[in-house]
Amino acid sequence: MDIKYRSTRSNLEVTASEAILQGLSEDGGLFVPTAVPPLPGDLRDLAGLTYQELALKVMGAFLTDFTEEELRACVEGAYDSKFDVPEIAPVVKKDGAYYLELFHGSTIAFKDMALSILPYLMTTAARKNGEHKKIVILTATSGDTGKAAMAGFADVPGTEIIVFYPKDGVSHIQEKQMVTQRGENTHVVAIRGNFDDAQSAVKKIFNDPVMRERIGAAGCRFSSANSINVGRLVPQIVYYVWAYCRLVAQGEIEAGDKINITVPTGNFGNILAAYYAKEMGLPVNKLICASNINKVLADFFETGDYDRRRDFVLTSSPSMDILISSNLERLIYRICGNDPVRCSAFMKSLSEEGAYHITDEMRAQLSDFRGGFAEEAENFAGIRELYERSGYVIDTHTGIANAVWRRYARESGDTMPTVIASTASPYKFAASVIGAIAPDRAEGKDDFGLIDLLREISGVPEPPAITDIRTAPVRHNTVVDVQDMPEEVCRILGA
Ligand SMILES: *Cc1c(COP(=O)(O)O)cnc(C)c1O
Repeated sequence: MDIKYRSTRSNLEVTASEAILQGLSEDGGLFVPTAVPPLPGDLRDLAGLTYQELALKVMGAFLTDFTEEELRACVEGAYDSKFDVPEIAPVVKKDGAYYLELFHGSTIAFKDMALSILPYLMTTAARKNGEHKKIVILTATSGDTGKAAMAGFADVPGTEIIVFYPKDGVSHIQEKQMVTQRGENTHVVAIRGNFDDAQSAVKKIFNDPVMRERIGAAGCRFSSANSINVGRLVPQIVYYVWAYCRLVAQGEIEAGDKINITVPTGNFGNILAAYYAKEMGLPVNKLICASNINKVLADFFETGDYDRRRDFVLTSSPSMDILISSNLERLIYRICGNDPVRCSAFMKSLSEEGAYHITDEMRAQLSDFRGGFAEEAENFAGIRELYERSGYVIDTHTGIANAVWRRYARESGDTMPTVIASTASPYKFAASVIGAIAPDRAEGKDDFGLIDLLREISGVPEPPAITDIRTAPVRHNTVVDVQDMPEEVCRILGA
């Protein structure tokens, strides 16, 4: 099956490798596969594969202009000892749910699952398309994505990565993680401004023809590693098939039995991957989309109204504090009959009025999904209860999924086996997690004090990502004003 990638906003169609190189379509749309391939084999057979073997098959079904040899090199480069367990993404059963641990990579959050392979996919795509320039990844980050992208791109030949972050806008641990980043091709720059300033300036640099020409003359081209890239979406489909196969291999279910999947959601990328897995034929009952109090998506699934006109609330699950879930555009495109004109109209309404309303006929196609949300108190209570019943400690993002699923199961009586996407290690959000399970012991402790306490309470060994930053030398200490960002990019690239 030959699969191409079509923009959600026009009839523009490209190959998988072109879609990965471009990131966003030039008409502003997102690339979607022209068809969803079937599962690459019988589930009983797939259950006998390693993560790497399965990744090769599932990704091969989507990225049809990559040769098997090319993909194998990408998979082997990505899913190796950077992960601290040989299974890459273990599935553990605790208190009636199956937690799919997606946080065993170098930055201990699920973004490593895709960002560890994206650099390989991108440099392979460049080679296939006769692009000989060095690929420069430019990113503005509010903390997590920038670090995960750097960890993925560090020392990958043919690439440079430049990350801008707001000097006073990230946590102490996040800053420490970034400024100690290794790799000769990694560059971290703090800016005097907030995240939006950094983000807008990066977009401007991307779209500035003068900048493009200047860095082009120095043998470079810009590319983007953000979550709308097909090269991030496709690797995420793999672990849902993997989780199902683990349950079969561990004797928890029979091949063919249905399961639910619950995903703590922000930009709608992770859960969209689960939707594609279901479309491939994975036996999935409900896709439960869990939001924190920024519950635009929960409201959308309940009413068919997507409405971002509301206050933005900072929570203890910051990676889900989002009012515009970019990847939802791919689902909208699909349920409006793969019609780029209709899809563009919805997106125009969102950018101009801050809202759109889908038709009943579109809503009828969303029956696979179930939205839900949890507030801070319910999240914390759920984390604490799970810990008290099983000794298992989850982070505050996974906590949202945990709370939403448990309430759904209680209210609906649905007893189907449920996989919960566990998106970050509790160590990454130690302060909040301690706040949930042992608030009385937190007093007077700094970040590392809380981490020590978490280790003691949970019995889970401290991940290398944390141990590392205790002692790693600071390698990056540049701070610039927002208006000097373009010059800084040129200086770094020698342009
Ligand atoms: C990015 C992130 C999410 C949200 O994932 P989306 O694909 O944006 O929906 C959830 N949890 C953690 C820990 C994250 O880093």
